[in-house]
Amino acid sequence: MPVPAEGSTSGSSSDTPRRRGLTVPVLVTGASGYIASWICLYLLEQGYAIRGTTRNEKKGEWMKQMYKDRGYDKFDYTVVTDLENDDAFGEAVIGVDAIVHTASPFHWNVEKPDDFIKPAVAGTVSVLKAASKEPRVQRIVITSSYASILENREPGSTTFTEADWNQQSIDEVNEKGVDAWRMHWYRASKTLAERAAWDYMEKNKPTFDLVTICPPYVLGPIIHEAASPGSLNTSIANWYSFLTGQKTEEDATAPAGILCDVRDVARCHTKALLLPEAAGQRFGIATRTFTLQVLLDHVHDPSNAHLLSVFPKTVRGVPGKEVPPQNWFDCSRSLKTLGITPTHESRTA
Ligand code: NAP
Repeated sequence: MPVPAEGSTSGSSSDTPRRRGLTVPVLVTGASGYIASWICLYLLEQGYAIRGTTRNEKKGEWMKQMYKDRGYDKFDYTVVTDLENDDAFGEAVIGVDAIVHTASPFHWNVEKPDDFIKPAVAGTVSVLKAASKEPRVQRIVITSSYASILENREPGSTTFTEADWNQQSIDEVNEKGVDAWRMHWYRASKTLAERAAWDYMEKNKPTFDLVTICPPYVLGPIIHEAASPGSLNTSIANWYSFLTGQKTEEDATAPAGILCDVRDVARCHTKALLLPEAAGQRFGIATRTFTLQVLLDHVHDPSNAHLLSVFPKTVRGVPGKEVPPQNWFDCSRSLKTLGITPTHESRTA
């Protein structure tokens, strides 16, 4: 189902701008985050108005000014501090036609699995419940993760698809609690939150439809506020620690999973929001398997001397070391339905 447009050519499967001059906004939760800020930018570029949620008014004001400086004045925000509040989004959804839900904890300032799981699941259900009370809402796109799909298997043995679900992390967390690998805490939170969303749809059959996006490791430029290295989002913070010499050769050459560029991830979201045929589907996006060494070689290439002058302590690792075999994520569904071919590989560093 396409997002309805005032004065639009309804029924079109195109995602060309249809709502210029629109006053009814799209709600984007966690709008001050890394991925969400790109999603907002692309929606603003297409003429949509955005109501973002943020936990922090200062960040909201910063984002508003950042978009204004880029020539877009249809970004506004509302403060939603607690994802675990059952009515967290009750007011935020009023008058919106569509929602992109990105807010979910992805940081290591956690003590137990529930520090991830509770806000991830409660926030997702809360968005769906709020949307069920706003008849205007036609579509919700949720930022899930490849974490909800992959399981640890023999490297190179498996090609995952959107039909797969990660049960392993849930089992590990149930069995070992705080002693489970911390990445399983996060992965379990994403799996349980996404499952809760599809279960809600099945059980309640609301009038809106749902799409989920499952990105792997996301890198690429940041446009949101990151006042200090400590406030960088997790995937960028990891890369930053290589640029500032805080990692080892071994870290550099270790399998790092699957890479995709934040701009491709954001384009996936905006397409998924607009294309009728995306309804009811999960979509992945994947550029390549990688090690951080691949990106370090790029920074150390003589043609990128400007990067090295900014980050002179960048880890060198083992130049040119081959990427070891790793499992893959077949994203042909995104290619076919959303028309997304990852395009930013060479610019990721
Ligand atoms: P991010 O910049 O940290 O964004 C996360 C957003 O969620 C922030 O806006 C954050 O608000 C909000 N949030 C986190 N915990 C919250 C809580 N308890 N209550 C309210 N809001 C909360 O990280 P990101 O990388 O853009 O992640 C966005 C989404 O993409 C997440 O759902 C994440 O799981 C998913 N994802 C990320 C990657 C990746 O590699 N980056 C890969 C796959 C999926 P504050 O700004 O106030 O902290």
